[in-house]
Amino acid sequence: MINVINKTNCCGCNACYNICPTNAIQMINDEKGFWFPSIDKDKCINCGMCEKACPMLANKDNKNNPIAYACYNKDEKIRMESSSGGIFTLLAINIINRGGVVFGASFNNENLVEHICIDNIYDLYKLRGSKYLQSNTNTTYKEVKGYLDKNVLVLYTGTPCQIEGLLSYLQIDYENLYTQDIICHGVPSPKVWKKYLEFRLGDNKDKIIINFRDKSEGWSNYNIVLQNDSIKYKNVYKKDLYLKAFLKDICLRDSCYNCKFKKLNRLSDITLGDFWGISEVLPEMNDDKGTSLVIVNSKKGIELFDNINTNIIFKKVDLDKALEFNFMMIKSADLHKNREKFFENLDKLPFKVLIKKYLPESNIFYRILCRIIHKIMSIFK
Ligand SMILES: Cc1cc2nc3c(=O)[nH]c(=O)nc-3n(C[C@H](O)[C@H](O)[C@H](O)COP(=O)(O)OP(=O)(O)OC[C@H]3O[C@@H](n4cnc5c(N)ncnc54)[C@H](O)[C@@H]3O)c2cc1C
Repeated sequence: MINVINKTNCCGCNACYNICPTNAIQMINDEKGFWFPSIDKDKCINCGMCEKACPMLANKDNKNNPIAYACYNKDEKIRMESSSGGIFTLLAINIINRGGVVFGASFNNENLVEHICIDNIYDLYKLRGSKYLQSNTNTTYKEVKGYLDKNVLVLYTGTPCQIEGLLSYLQIDYENLYTQDIICHGVPSPKVWKKYLEFRLGDNKDKIIINFRDKSEGWSNYNIVLQNDSIKYKNVYKKDLYLKAFLKDICLRDSCYNCKFKKLNRLSDITLGDFWGISEVLPEMNDDKGTSLVIVNSKKGIELFDNINTNIIFKKVDLDKALEFNFMMIKSADLHKNREKFFENLDKLPFKVLIKKYLPESNIFYRILCRIIHKIMSIFK
């Protein structure tokens, strides 16, 4: 029986919840807003399937030979609607055009994020774009198995832990399953996101369109936009309080600070990330509209990449060079020293006060010193 004593040992993928044959497992939110398995001991038959399905307990190594590319979608509209180069949409279209279905993260009616299944290209906009909070996979692993057993092609997309969770749940290699993960900084608490929305929008949260990565004024200095009929909030990411909390690592899931899925040799077929550093590695591929770092991990990944390569501009790159600018591929976020206090006061303090108190601005002299050190280090690189 799965037993989460230390919260860093559960990534919240829901594999145990999906596999339990007696529905003895429920996923329950803790006080920080992250879900963990809770077991009804009267229903549990000690079959051990939950432990077998858990990717945190599995030890799957992959001896592959990842190949890296800098890429962007030739379709400018899709590219501008996407967080980096708009590659996800092309992979998804390819699968749907071959009669398959695509799973990925979408906002629900409560402005929270959950995984859904899409079977037509007109609905793909729901999955497009990064949503910076943990997505709930709900019962999608079971749904995926249903499609796979009926010989339908499936593309499942998500964080590295969600992909390894799915593969661990399935236990067998399906020829008709394709997986795409992302380079993941870590996932913030949905409860923190809810508190932020309340602070920003009050009761005016209906039919809100959320864009974490509005690129209309450039990809490298993107905006967050929240918009409905009566409200439009737009702010550059560096100044937004929620994105500050996310990027300063104060509100990530416990397991994200020691993530075992961040690695070079991934189990997914393709990994997508932002090609930070493109202006230095391949300046001709940077027009500040978004360039993806695409890492092809497997034979199926090569097949997918070949299927879309007439729709993209791409160049092969040295993976080590690319990762010099994107160490989140392999390195976990650093635990913020104020994280516990931040969460203790999440229900007590107004959102703005909370951020100002636990993420204070460093003084101007310190910031100048950091910039000088950064410049000196880049000269010696
Ligand atoms: C929480 C999070 C952290 C990230 N951190 C980094 C990082 O540190 N460095 C980096 O290079 N890239 C990071 N990315 C990935 C990057 O922002 C782009 O999503 C990726 O490059 C794909 O871009 P695209 O333009 O091809 O497609 P897009 O259309 O922008 O992306 C859509 C894809 O993202 C998935 N997705 C969106 N939100 C979520 C979510 N909450 N949970 C799971 N899957 C989601 C969708 O299912 C789909 O597969 C992160 C993404 C997320 C969601």
